[in-house]
Amino acid sequence: MLVGSGGNIGVSVGADGILIVDDQFAPLAEKIKAALKTLGEGKLKFILNTHWHGDHTGGNVVFGPEAPIIAQTNVRKRLAEGSAQTGGAKPAPKEALPVITFDQSLSVHFNSEEIRVIHYPHGHTDGDSVIFFTGSNVVHMGDDFFAGKFPFIDLASGGDVEGATKNVGDIISKLPPDVKIIPGHGPLSTLDDLKLYHRMLVETTDTVRKKKAAGKTLEQIKAEGLPDEWKNWGNGFIKTDQWIETIFKSLSAHS
Ligand SMILES: [Zn+2]
Repeated sequence: MLVGSGGNIGVSVGADGILIVDDQFAPLAEKIKAALKTLGEGKLKFILNTHWHGDHTGGNVVFGPEAPIIAQTNVRKRLAEGSAQTGGAKPAPKEALPVITFDQSLSVHFNSEEIRVIHYPHGHTDGDSVIFFTGSNVVHMGDDFFAGKFPFIDLASGGDVEGATKNVGDIISKLPPDVKIIPGHGPLSTLDDLKLYHRMLVETTDTVRKKKAAGKTLEQIKAEGLPDEWKNWGNGFIKTDQWIETIFKSLSAHS
């Protein structure tokens, strides 16, 4: 796992060469290359993108010409189109686009293990994949996991709070207790950390759902806040008010 200023990068290094999961921002590419050199002399062979956001795919423009980029179908589509709503992202140039796409799942057999890439629909966006390093017992969650923080759920890109909660629950049921978990953002985590994150999603969504059903407005719910247990979870990129608003809007999209 490489940590920088964007999403966490997962790296597989071995006899077959190097595979990276996500590549942060283009200006960091030289630093990423230097860090990869310290891990092994092998060539970069594959780049996986967990989803389309610029803090996970910004380096594609540099790494794309070196090795094939693999991602779920919607990642290529959204990178190619850009989005006025999500940070004003411009359409990505051709060399930054995934060249191998898939709808449901795909495996890369690399460095003596099966690296399974599985699409989980409508979570953080509509194109998120979780990467299971089945031999090393490591999983890269992409932005379906913000460790210890309220997440950004990109409703404009097909994200959904209840979908994200369901996906995380499904993933938890598949993972062995000693798995190492790379979150999209935050420190290397354990299964217990992911279970706590899941409980946060369930309980904060429940709180907002009940208040909304009782006829309270978004402003009232924001004023009342969330249970104290989750207070520190609003210290990250997404503040408590923004998280409440995301849940409220996501729930409203279905009703
Ligand atoms: Zn993201």
